[in-house]
Amino acid sequence: MLNGQTVADFMKEEMTAKVAVLKEKGITPCLATILVGDDPSSETYVRMKGNACARIGVHSIKVVLPAETTTEQLIQEITKLNEDVSVHGILLQHPVPHHIDERAAFDAISIEKDVDGVTTLGFALNAFGVAAFPSCTPQAIIRILDFYNVPIEGKHAVVIGRSPILGKPVSAMLLNRNATVTTCHSKTVNLEEIVKSGDIVIAAVGKPNFVKGSWIKPGAVVIDAGYNKGNIGDVDYSSCLTPSSAITPVPGGVGPVTIATLIEHTIKSASMQSEKTS
Ligand code: NAP
Repeated sequence: MLNGQTVADFMKEEMTAKVAVLKEKGITPCLATILVGDDPSSETYVRMKGNACARIGVHSIKVVLPAETTTEQLIQEITKLNEDVSVHGILLQHPVPHHIDERAAFDAISIEKDVDGVTTLGFALNAFGVAAFPSCTPQAIIRILDFYNVPIEGKHAVVIGRSPILGKPVSAMLLNRNATVTTCHSKTVNLEEIVKSGDIVIAAVGKPNFVKGSWIKPGAVVIDAGYNKGNIGDVDYSSCLTPSSAITPVPGGVGPVTIATLIEHTIKSASMQSEKTS
């Protein structure tokens, strides 16, 4: 089992040490989260991120805006946080209410503070393999593979899902690590056959227990990025456990590493901003 909590605990130790060094210089890394509306799952995610920051000594501030907030008002709030030198990372919790232009709001986040890797510029820089903060869940997936010494180069990676925050960026990151990548989506024909040819299978579909054990090539590594109601992943864990050589659980797989990655990016952003000003 590829235990994500073990990876997150390892990262926590590294991060705590880095925060102590920054605090000696009078800097406390700070993550600002923006929540628009009152979606209970989003509230939970934002609270979990705030609690995880506190455990590592990272300051977090929460901006809560009513569901009627317009795109312009949201962008104004983001601009204020961009200009606030005490804020090192900005996270706009997805999804925002339908009437808001989410892409415009994401793109209003300055690249230096885009610790969640949601801007168009950040996405492009990452696709080119140039330093920027990658989207957190894709980065967490790569982190887990590296932590457990899963070889990526030359392997056939099958990614199920092509969302801008998950499927697409993780496909680009695997390609940059010299995997041969097939990205599947809802219009893919013969999905099962394609998954069967994968050495590494990444499930990012948003459908509970979607990937079945009979689709998995013996010895393949299975990463479940899914998180559905009731703590259920996108992979049918019990049937995939036997054919796979390694598999992430849900919960306790990609999730904790995603949160740790967000905080790691905030700390890195604080270090980079302190180097610029010193
Ligand atoms: P999303 O935006 O809904 O994208 C889902 C993707 O799956 C789309 O590309 C869609 O294809 C594809 N898909 C849907 N049905 C399919 C089918 N029958 N066959 C093949 N592909 C299909 O979801 P997301 O935001 O990427 O999230 C994916 C999963 O990851 C969800 O379970 C979410 O909760 C989870 N997640 C977890 C974390 C974490 O920290 N662990 C973070 C973010 C998301 P089309 O493009 O053709 O529609």
